[in-house]
Amino acid sequence: MIRIVRLPLGADGAERLARKAEHVRQLGGSVAHARATWKSAAAERGLVRDRLAEMAAGIQRCMYCGDSLGTDIDHFEPLARTPSRAFDWLNHLLACSHCNSNEKRDGHPCGEAGECLLIDPTREEPSTHLRLVLSTGEYQASTPKGGATIETIGLNRPDLVRGRADAFAMRGLVFLGLMAKHDAGDIDAWRVALDALHRQPFADVLAAMMRIADRPGADIVLGADVRDAMLTVVSLMRAEGAPTVHMTSAMGEASTAGALGSSGVQAPRGPSGKT
Ligand SMILES: [Zn+2]
Repeated sequence: MIRIVRLPLGADGAERLARKAEHVRQLGGSVAHARATWKSAAAERGLVRDRLAEMAAGIQRCMYCGDSLGTDIDHFEPLARTPSRAFDWLNHLLACSHCNSNEKRDGHPCGEAGECLLIDPTREEPSTHLRLVLSTGEYQASTPKGGATIETIGLNRPDLVRGRADAFAMRGLVFLGLMAKHDAGDIDAWRVALDALHRQPFADVLAAMMRIADRPGADIVLGADVRDAMLTVVSLMRAEGAPTVHMTSAMGEASTAGALGSSGVQAPRGPSGKT
């Protein structure tokens, strides 16, 4: 799971959702009223889904698992629990059908004081609560909220664990390949591969790699050659200009907070300077 930047819905969309929310309220505000109104609001659902797809990492990946196509609009705070939030834009996430219907369903874990124990990736940085073990693909909990999220979404189900471990192995090779293309002066291929890298599923794996790339011991986890390639690629990207929203998400805080710019980064060369 990675941090997702929530985009504004726009005045027209917000107004349309507000009208539907008012309709639910006037009917009586029950779960049944909210469900029926949500089901009949095809245009509003389409509008919400399109905007969520713009926010999602890669090619419209699920905001929970990061693997499968986000096909469903998930109510973060379940409609069955809070029908008044059925049309609340801040309560909508893009999820795959497995995460939404087979795992989370109406789950909304809370602590003893009533605090929510499920990570909303549009509100907070998931890595605060979750630690991804790159070599195995498993998530470990750093906080009770992390543990509840792993449990509720099924983040350590075998297919995801295997997929993350494979993604980690393949991304290392991609960074080495990127540097080979750059050093050979094949800048067009370099850019194509870099774009493709940021559209791959499991953006959380790339984000975890980026977070540690300039830290002590990164050479042990990533391999010194991969670590060096990653740091060079980041410096080259910066020399080319600001990353896209999706790229920023995939790279976690590293690309925005400058965590990779403070140490260990080679001086920018810029693809155009290499022939
Ligand atoms: Zn999913």
